[in-house]
Amino acid sequence: MKALSSIFECAFAGVEEGAHWVHGGTENVPVATLLEMYNVSQVRVGGDDDYEGSRDQLLLISQKGETLSAAQRDLSFDLFASARAASQAFAEDALSDNATNVSVADVWHRALQFNYSAEGQVLLDWHKKVSYEQDSGASIDKLSALAEYVADYTDFYSDRSMGREKHGDGFVEGGYSTLVRRLAAGLDIRLQSPVTRIHYSDAGVAVTAKGEVLRGTALILTASIGALQAESITFEPALPSWKLDALRRLGMGNVAKVLVRLSERVPRLQSVYSLGQLLSEQQQGHDLISFCIWDGHEHASKPVLECFLGGEQAVTAEKIDAEQLKRRVSRELNSSLGIAAVEEVTITKWSTNPYIRGAWSYAPVNSSVKDFDAMARSVGRLHFAGEGTCRLLYGNVHAAVVSGARAAHDLLDLEEGNLQRWPLFRQATGLEKAPHIPGCPVICVVISMGSGLLSQQRVCLMACVVEASKKVIEKSYGKIH
Ligand SMILES: Cc1cc2nc3c(=O)[nH]c(=O)nc-3n(C[C@H](O)[C@H](O)[C@H](O)COP(=O)(O)OP(=O)(O)OC[C@H]3O[C@@H](n4cnc5c(N)ncnc54)[C@H](O)[C@@H]3O)c2cc1C
Repeated sequence: MKALSSIFECAFAGVEEGAHWVHGGTENVPVATLLEMYNVSQVRVGGDDDYEGSRDQLLLISQKGETLSAAQRDLSFDLFASARAASQAFAEDALSDNATNVSVADVWHRALQFNYSAEGQVLLDWHKKVSYEQDSGASIDKLSALAEYVADYTDFYSDRSMGREKHGDGFVEGGYSTLVRRLAAGLDIRLQSPVTRIHYSDAGVAVTAKGEVLRGTALILTASIGALQAESITFEPALPSWKLDALRRLGMGNVAKVLVRLSERVPRLQSVYSLGQLLSEQQQGHDLISFCIWDGHEHASKPVLECFLGGEQAVTAEKIDAEQLKRRVSRELNSSLGIAAVEEVTITKWSTNPYIRGAWSYAPVNSSVKDFDAMARSVGRLHFAGEGTCRLLYGNVHAAVVSGARAAHDLLDLEEGNLQRWPLFRQATGLEKAPHIPGCPVICVVISMGSGLLSQQRVCLMACVVEASKKVIEKSYGKIH
């Protein structure tokens, strides 16, 4: 997986270029189960379905560089929560199933037809930017309102109404690459070998990578939605039109991390996990710093700020010349926080990475979440996995994990290979016994999802499948690349 890419050398050693958090921490059953199975620790940072890290450790800074009080900060959350709830209620009431052309921006506009004070608007704009643009990688006029507000989606945060204590987010000790290295142990993995052609038929598959042709019985392809849209792989025969149409409709969001290494710790950031910089309307499209993570204990040596950019701003910023980027970031941090200790600045470049082409997938206006299901459907011996094939969880590491298990499950025909019968996609209610999976250490019972929430048992089945399928695939098919 790409976005599980840690920087091992240079000034930013130890920082993740891509995925960092285990959203939902120990409640994120797919990832937490894998971590446990492979003996990798997770460190709790807290947080909820809005933001990573505890709310008490969010430092919000006004446009004038002043720190918002705890009461002002909490008020901003309430303001955003009520606006979002009104938008959600409006979307649920007013949008029919075929209103695919309505964006989140349209819904906000129609649901909130009153004027906020200037201060309120600035607060709302900041939350909107972080919660939508940096969360999906696309501006709110591009996001499908049906997908955002009406379709089932799952996160792993405790239901607050149940009065349970939230675990919040965690991160993987040593970075996600620790898990990836353990998962990869003993497997024949070829790096720097881009696949350019995939031939598939009833007789098997043939993959061309770096001039070499690898043959197999079946294939699981996990290239991102962005990489597939870029058509860097030739399929023979061409993929069917239902798959290509879904691929065309889905979007690949853009998110960049601006990493800032400071030469010294900043007293004002003591006890702070995340940092929010409120922006005026004029600063919105221009200023680079709006939301950053600051957590000394995650980075061993010098302190590093990780700042997020989303949507077009991420794409544009990736192209800024290194010196200019450093100058801009230094100026902004100096004027908002009085930080004069910027030593080095760099930016991740996922949007121009030819094998990724963005950060993660999203459902744009004129798409439907059913397009994720179409991406998941196999074509003969060609199977598809990756976060962009997972309707209930897309955009995250856990989606990639679950999708891999689902594809392995399909491939192995453990349940006659029928997508509707794969537990994650089954809509019926009731209690069912999971199929017996050879080698699976856990006995799983599947409880159907109803509202769309995955039960722990359901995902535990998935984790069993990951483990079992690795063994069975190798036994049945030999090595699959
Ligand atoms: C900046 C950033 C921050 C993120 N933060 C988080 C986070 O905190 N928590 C979280 O859960 N998720 C996070 N994510 C999302 C997460 O990283 C992805 O959802 C996840 O990595 C998707 O995994 P995947 O296997 O589906 O796809 P990918 O990670 O894209 O893996 C696909 C692989 O296919 C390879 N590939 C593509 N084309 C070819 C080809 N032609 N030949 C050979 N190989 C090819 C790619 O090189 C890549 O290695 C973040 C992503 C980014 C970019």
